[in-house]
Amino acid sequence: MSNSSKIDVTVKQIDKKTGLLKEKPFFTAARKIVKDTSKKWCLISIDIEHFRMFDEWYGRENGDLLLSKIGGLLKDRQDKLNGLAAYFGQDDFVLLCPFDIDKIKRLHKQVRELIVSHGSSVGFSPAFGVVIIEGDMRMVDAYDKASIAASEAKKDIRNRVCVYDTQMKSSAEHEYNVLRQYIRAFKNDEITFYLQPQCRISTGNIVGAESLARWIRKDGSIVPPGEFIPILEKYGFIADLDQRLWDKVCFWLRKWIDAGHTPVPISLNVSRADIFTIDIASHFHNLAEKYQIPHNLLKIEITESVYVETKILIDELVNKLRNDGFLVLMDDFGSGYSSLNMLSNLKVDAIKLDANFLHIEDADHDKGIHILESVVNMAKQIALPIVVEGVETKSQSEFLESLGCRYVQGFYFYRPMPVEQFEALIGDEEKIDKRGFVVKLNEEFRIREFLDRNIYSDSMLNNILGPVALYSWHDGDQVDIVRFNQQFYETVDVPDFHERLSNIERFMIPKDHELLIKCFQEAMDNRLNGASCYVRFYKTNGILTTYHIHFYYLGKKEGGERFYGDANNITELADLKDELNLIASYSNENFILIKYVDDKWTCSVASHSLADIFGLSPQELEKEMNNGSFIKNRMADQKACSSFIEKFRKHVKDNENFDGVLETIDKFGKIQKVKLSFLYVGSEANNVRYLLKTDLVK
Ligand code: C2E
Ligand code: CA
Ligand code: CA
Repeated sequence: MSNSSKIDVTVKQIDKKTGLLKEKPFFTAARKIVKDTSKKWCLISIDIEHFRMFDEWYGRENGDLLLSKIGGLLKDRQDKLNGLAAYFGQDDFVLLCPFDIDKIKRLHKQVRELIVSHGSSVGFSPAFGVVIIEGDMRMVDAYDKASIAASEAKKDIRNRVCVYDTQMKSSAEHEYNVLRQYIRAFKNDEITFYLQPQCRISTGNIVGAESLARWIRKDGSIVPPGEFIPILEKYGFIADLDQRLWDKVCFWLRKWIDAGHTPVPISLNVSRADIFTIDIASHFHNLAEKYQIPHNLLKIEITESVYVETKILIDELVNKLRNDGFLVLMDDFGSGYSSLNMLSNLKVDAIKLDANFLHIEDADHDKGIHILESVVNMAKQIALPIVVEGVETKSQSEFLESLGCRYVQGFYFYRPMPVEQFEALIGDEEKIDKRGFVVKLNEEFRIREFLDRNIYSDSMLNNILGPVALYSWHDGDQVDIVRFNQQFYETVDVPDFHERLSNIERFMIPKDHELLIKCFQEAMDNRLNGASCYVRFYKTNGILTTYHIHFYYLGKKEGGERFYGDANNITELADLKDELNLIASYSNENFILIKYVDDKWTCSVASHSLADIFGLSPQELEKEMNNGSFIKNRMADQKACSSFIEKFRKHVKDNENFDGVLETIDKFGKIQKVKLSFLYVGSEANNVRYLLKTDLVK
């Protein structure tokens, strides 16, 4: 007989969807079971990762069906094992049962199979956190511990069943401890920088060094940055540390130069969070001024992911830094997001590539010559120097050299070292390569050899390529996708992905279909550079997504023309891009971009001089315009203003251009007449866009 039938259960205590007990009655009943029997009990917290996405992909109904099946499975376990199962809502299940790790693993397998049988081959893997109930451990505490173990289990794809041990603290607790210690350490100035030399591979001579944070405790033990920097980033403490370290490096450089030595350029790490909290360009400018450091002695390393996430911001920053004479390096290339295609548009001085990704000894062949062909074409245009990091062995180094790599940074050459040790090293001028770090030297990126020799793992290759697919164009206007990689699959992100691979034109706007065909023709005409286009596809829910795809022509195969296509989903950027293009084309004027939706407008202010009339920053002006206080505070004649707005409404309805003059109150309290010209720039659905141009009337 099962426990749940032994204890009194009312209908209200049962969850309808899953047929399992709800949270509160579970805790009460579970306590009783554990107290009454002398078995070794455990509590399992079961969590289906990304379940909410499952709902989105396969529909709510399917999601509910799956939950009820899992409920059925757990109920069966409950009855067979004399245990107790419950459903806590969302995707959280628990099972109280005698501890037997083999049985638990078998159950895990069954849950997984259930999910897979519901159509999902990706992503939604169950995680099991198990806690053995000891002594008089309270049930809620046991559940907390099981949850902690479940989140550990989520970190490890291969081992999704994790048994709690006391070493496991909740990550928040751990982070809090590190932060508390860190803050004291920061005050006590226990954090300094080490330097790791960067070498020319052919001679081993030093061309520069990277500054790396080291927390040196009072007892001399060293905390590596991996243990605290991610936490500082998460909680917003990194900017203070970075600024202090950059300052220390510059201070040291100045001292070194003053002592009559030859300096080498130093790489400084800029974290993602720094970019949002510090005006990086002026900060480095001022820092270099403060210590009179030639700008080309500072190399600014920005990690790759930032380039992708904050494209517009970063382009501007990189330009500013480089125009000011600093070198900019893209760190961790290939670690996640960028594609070679994207690199060609990026104006960095060099990229850093982590050799940890290079499985040089791996033998793994046949990667699709056609794709390689296209990558070679792309890489030829890039011509960027590469610094390979993490080189640990002689054979790696020789191999990289044979490929034509010029710069390396790795334990095989030097480990990161205290500054005194570095001074001793470069004090010997023989060891310095005075040509330094030669950038933009059209270093040939011999990617074909790179790839043919298989030094990239599949996953890195995927990362570098980004979302790519092979297309076949046949029978005049039909287009199929014949191959694709994982990233492509993830980017397209539709539940009926596989049904969409043939005749992709079915999911396109006819106009875009024409563009696509035209683009194919261009790519055939220009085999070297290929061709690109912006095209839109309907998602399953009818919403359009915009892709920028760069195609390369590969040749004829099986009755179709084959193309390699590098796709970027730019749906979110597309909006922004329109606006920025617009802004750029009017950049000498005082203008405001107005989006008018449902009788409400949103203004984007991009002009300083207009805001200046009112003594505001563009951001402040924008805020005032959007919350209505502008009209209240800055308009001299409220009545005239209201009637102007009435007129505005009428013109907007007809998408007309119009203008008028209004009196405003400037920052000195004086009345300024301003001519407002509204230029219609387009509309989509119920979203009308105007450009508002303003001129002072003298
Ligand atoms: P990173 O910027 O990619 O730095 C290179 C890392 O690779 C360093 O780790 C370096 O010690 C390590 N490394 C160099 N050669 C080898 C090798 O041959 N084999 C292996 N296995 N590793 C090698 P480290 O110093 O532990 O720093 C880790 C990360 O922490 C850095 O990665 C960087 O992202 C961050 N970091 C370090 N210092 C700072 C800093 O001052 N500010 C910021 N914002 N981040 C920092
Ligand atoms: Ca770095
Ligand atoms: Ca790196």
